[in-house]
Amino acid sequence: MTHTINRQTFDEVMAPNYSPLSMIPVTGDGSRVWDQLGKEYIDFSGGIAVNVLGHCHPALKQALNQQSEKLWHLSNVWTNEPAIRLAQSLCNKTFADRVYFANSGAEANEAAFKLARKHAYDHFGPEKHEIISCKNGFHGRTLFTVSVGGQPKYCEGFEPVPKGIRHITFNDTEALTTAISDKTCAVVLELIQGEGGIITANPEFIRAARQLCDQHNALLIFDEVQTGVGRTGKLYAYEHFNVTPDILTTAKALGGGFPIAAMLSTEAAAQSLTVGSHGSTYGGNPLGAAVANKVLELVDSKEVLEGVVKRHTSFINKLQKLNQKTPVFSEFRGKGLLIGCELKTEYHGKARAFIQMAEQHGLMLLVAGLNVVRLTPSLIIPEEDIAEGMQRFSKTMQVFAKNN
Ligand code: PLP
Repeated sequence: MTHTINRQTFDEVMAPNYSPLSMIPVTGDGSRVWDQLGKEYIDFSGGIAVNVLGHCHPALKQALNQQSEKLWHLSNVWTNEPAIRLAQSLCNKTFADRVYFANSGAEANEAAFKLARKHAYDHFGPEKHEIISCKNGFHGRTLFTVSVGGQPKYCEGFEPVPKGIRHITFNDTEALTTAISDKTCAVVLELIQGEGGIITANPEFIRAARQLCDQHNALLIFDEVQTGVGRTGKLYAYEHFNVTPDILTTAKALGGGFPIAAMLSTEAAAQSLTVGSHGSTYGGNPLGAAVANKVLELVDSKEVLEGVVKRHTSFINKLQKLNQKTPVFSEFRGKGLLIGCELKTEYHGKARAFIQMAEQHGLMLLVAGLNVVRLTPSLIIPEEDIAEGMQRFSKTMQVFAKNN
């Protein structure tokens, strides 16, 4: 088959804000993907922690197809059954009493940050508007979310940015204690900094954040856009910490590949989202909600969640073994199937070069910053795909070590 569309066409017609790798995937099945030429790849990237059940899972196809025969879209002038069912299910499975639906992680966070301000405004007045977040954090690409995110490069050129945001060092309890005050309306945290390099929060830091928020009447917001929906071996990562937030955002894996996101909150916080105060045309769309209902049902099972823990061990053991033979990495870290492989200092800055080489060897990987190779595969990736993918990983390491 000849293809009139190729990677070069991308450079001609697409806005230049992305620089995708060279092959164009056209089909996927489970944890395998095929490109335009029919070449096969093992997918350890999982659509950046989205394809929790792999590509084209039969039950998700069925949920999507069945809903597509009934009703696609309504707007929020009417509600719909799949969305209400999904909200019910999210409330039953988590700390939450109320759910607001959006379409992406950034939008869910935008809603969370707006709600935090509105809640403080309603109860304490406009002075209480400060948001505290962490350096190297990532919360999305809208102007508010890049501003709360702790990576100044994403704000550069887009100033002026919203005011009243303070950044502290991740895991620095003392800095949080100093920064928080009665002007603080919310503290926003990732439980594992994903884009920031797969750095897990210290339990003491998270516990202190809860306590300080209570002391200062501030809301605690967990951004679980990357860590949510089974990724760490629990449905949501906060369950590892025994600390519940007031607001939690979830996206990516929630739709298993169909765009849908949600902001979960307590009853008390949600009350500030009065009629007309916030909204979205597509949020809670029946197609997305129907798929997400099936994703939650399948992921929130002993089999899948325990499988994540087993697969974590399998990945880490294999990575450590390969690294003994070809020492390219200084550390493997993360929880469940959110795994970061930090390159040794002499290879710093070369994570993208590594994943480019992996692609040539039939393996799809991700970076997390300049120095970390990131793996976020399907939560149900078969052991034989892990083994085959690791062989390709091994070849990549050898070629990488030879050429760098
Ligand atoms: N929050 C976190 C922790 C993320 O990792 C991401 C995306 O990588 C986002 C928010 C933004 O999500 P989206 O790209 O769906 O807007």
